[in-house]
Amino acid sequence: MEIKTVMVVGAGQMGSGIAQVHAQAGFHVILHDVNEQAVTKGLVGIEKNLHRQVEKGRLAEEDKTTILSRIEKSIDITNAKKTDLIIEAAVENMEIKAKIFGQLDEHAPSHAILATNTSSLPITEIAAATKRPEQVIGMHFMNPVPVMKLVEIIRGLQTSDAVYEVISAVSETLGKTAVEVNDFPGFVSNRILMPMINEAIYTVYEGVATKEAVDEVMKLGMNHPMGPLTLADFIGLDTCLYIMETLHDGFGDDKYRPCPLLRKYVKAGWLGKKTGRGFYEYN
Ligand code: NAD
Repeated sequence: MEIKTVMVVGAGQMGSGIAQVHAQAGFHVILHDVNEQAVTKGLVGIEKNLHRQVEKGRLAEEDKTTILSRIEKSIDITNAKKTDLIIEAAVENMEIKAKIFGQLDEHAPSHAILATNTSSLPITEIAAATKRPEQVIGMHFMNPVPVMKLVEIIRGLQTSDAVYEVISAVSETLGKTAVEVNDFPGFVSNRILMPMINEAIYTVYEGVATKEAVDEVMKLGMNHPMGPLTLADFIGLDTCLYIMETLHDGFGDDKYRPCPLLRKYVKAGWLGKKTGRGFYEYN
């Protein structure tokens, strides 16, 4: 099946990155969010990213213009009818995702594949919100999308081989490496990463060390490019909390209990870089 038009639902940090890499690879992209302001914010982020590439001499000005011309703005979910592939990147919440997938199923053409960029939620359960579970698949990009090579591809219980092959081929067209994993909470990436971040938060919460010290230990001692608390701020503390809750609920194991300090920050609206404050402050 040939994929020409890709709709990205959710124009936040992940959705805008996903839209950018598809437009760069030559796909026509429909960038969708709940309101004009959110879509514009996503598009401005893409423009800034591409502008930086032009400044660094990695991209010609006219190519930037061409890439941007491939992105159409949308606040109308019925635009799903124009697509071959839809990638959902809205908030990490099952109720919201199930509602979106129900709507997409209603409006998308019968051949369209419905993918989700969920970090941890069961693909099988998201697929159950549609009448085409064999055409629903997890397509988990890493942050920041234009930079990171991996796409974790997750099959739901009923995802067809043909759909898997198409998504694997699209990932390659984007210059990414696809790794296939099975549908269990947190898949592979976040089952390993998120408990480490949560444990780093516990070390601050229990007064073992300052946030700066924790990050420094992991950077200098383990050769991580950034410390876990800085990484949590980049991911979004709300997303980190949702993922820990999914692991906790999904496995029923207390080792995944979210740190109370993480809950407190999320309740305060300290969501990390995207809101200007998390473990650290950002301008
Ligand atoms: P974000 O908060 O930056 O963006 C979420 C966007 O979704 C917002 O623009 C919001 O307006 C929009 N949205 C909310 N409800 C919507 C709806 N009903 N219809 C359309 N749009 C809606 O979040 P993010 O970091 O971009 O995360 C998005 C998804 O990607 C989550 O499922 C998250 O788990 C996953 N993910 C995040 C990361 C990361 O590092 N942040 C990495 C991989 C995957």
